[in-house]
Amino acid sequence: MKGRKLLMIPGPIEFEPEVLQAMGQATTSHIAPKFIEVFGNSLELMREVWQSPSGQPFIVAGTGTLAMDMAAANLIEHGDNALVISSGYFGHRFKDILDRYGANTTILEAPIGEVVSLDAIENELRSKPYKVLTLTHVDTSTGILIDPKPIADLAKKYHVLSILDGVCSVAGEELKQDEWGIDVVLTASQKAIGVPPGLALLMASQKAMGVFKNRKTPVGNYYADWNNWLPIMQAYEERRPSYFGTPAVNLIVALETSLKIICTEGMDKRIQRHQNLAKAFRAGIAALKLRILPKTTHLAAHTLSAVYYPKGIDGAALRAKITEKNVILAGGLLAGIKSSYFRIGHMGSVSSNDLMAVLHALECALLALGHPIASGKSLQAFQNELLNTVPLNPVTN
Ligand SMILES: *Cc1c(COP(=O)(O)O)cnc(C)c1O
Repeated sequence: MKGRKLLMIPGPIEFEPEVLQAMGQATTSHIAPKFIEVFGNSLELMREVWQSPSGQPFIVAGTGTLAMDMAAANLIEHGDNALVISSGYFGHRFKDILDRYGANTTILEAPIGEVVSLDAIENELRSKPYKVLTLTHVDTSTGILIDPKPIADLAKKYHVLSILDGVCSVAGEELKQDEWGIDVVLTASQKAIGVPPGLALLMASQKAMGVFKNRKTPVGNYYADWNNWLPIMQAYEERRPSYFGTPAVNLIVALETSLKIICTEGMDKRIQRHQNLAKAFRAGIAALKLRILPKTTHLAAHTLSAVYYPKGIDGAALRAKITEKNVILAGGLLAGIKSSYFRIGHMGSVSSNDLMAVLHALECALLALGHPIASGKSLQAFQNELLNTVPLNPVTN
């Protein structure tokens, strides 16, 4: 498409044409039989994507921040101890939200580009009785990926509820909510789920629902209160009409379409695709001698990359040059180092074609600003890495 720009930021992302078409269908009543089926099916498909056959799904109009708010509002009572394990910007947001509901929040912060050690987490859990801990699967500000499983194990050992901010990971990074025993996994539509912004998506374990049901005080947030939403989710799943707040009909139709695309690809294959592309992309970045924000590639997410600008290059000028090549990237987000790095989203429908376009635009922009690189280097490294990991003639794709 002439003049079309490739949106390669960490959300919103490029959406599948089928999803956008689904979104544009005539809006039906929220109690039309066809819509009830779409809503019910979306709730069921979420369990497949989250790998949580026993979880309670919620689909509510709002953003990822509402999903975080909902987890905190329903599980926190005044004076509860909460532990935030932070690897960037979104850890601080969770602390602010938890504090708002009266939690006594402790934040364990990783140095930039690193993760909080398991020892530090266990020491903290040993020090006082915590009710919940939160962790950010992929912190979108730093591109850091954590391994949630050993932290979920610690949470179980110390009888603490675990809440995973999966806004930048669900449907892009490996996730096995039930097997890992995570109590809440939340996300938003516009990231790896692949639906335009506007839906908060959350899966709660039966344990979390039990803690919620045994609250002594009312939920301090009317819109987020599970007492209002749980009967709605249960009704739609049983294919019955129900009403609390008007569902975002068009977004939910788009969500069902995207979840079907995700489940047709299959979770294992989808995660593998994200891993292969991320690895190849970072080989391209390394070939340009650019440095990524995570200290080791082992800690680098597969849904986005955070890359430092090279010395002597003005970040805004670089991104403007990249935009001239019709590729949109994101700037930095973490306070203090915001202007020293940029971010590239590679999640959802992302393909090798998209990432070739990013590397091409990046090389052109660096050359235009007089940065000494050998042209084609990143594309060659990208190609070599892909050829090493992906068979040349895959049966599908
Ligand atoms: C994007 C993001 C959020 C916030 O989601 P919004 O939809 O912008 O409210 C929270 N956590 C993480 C890890 C994110 O990437």
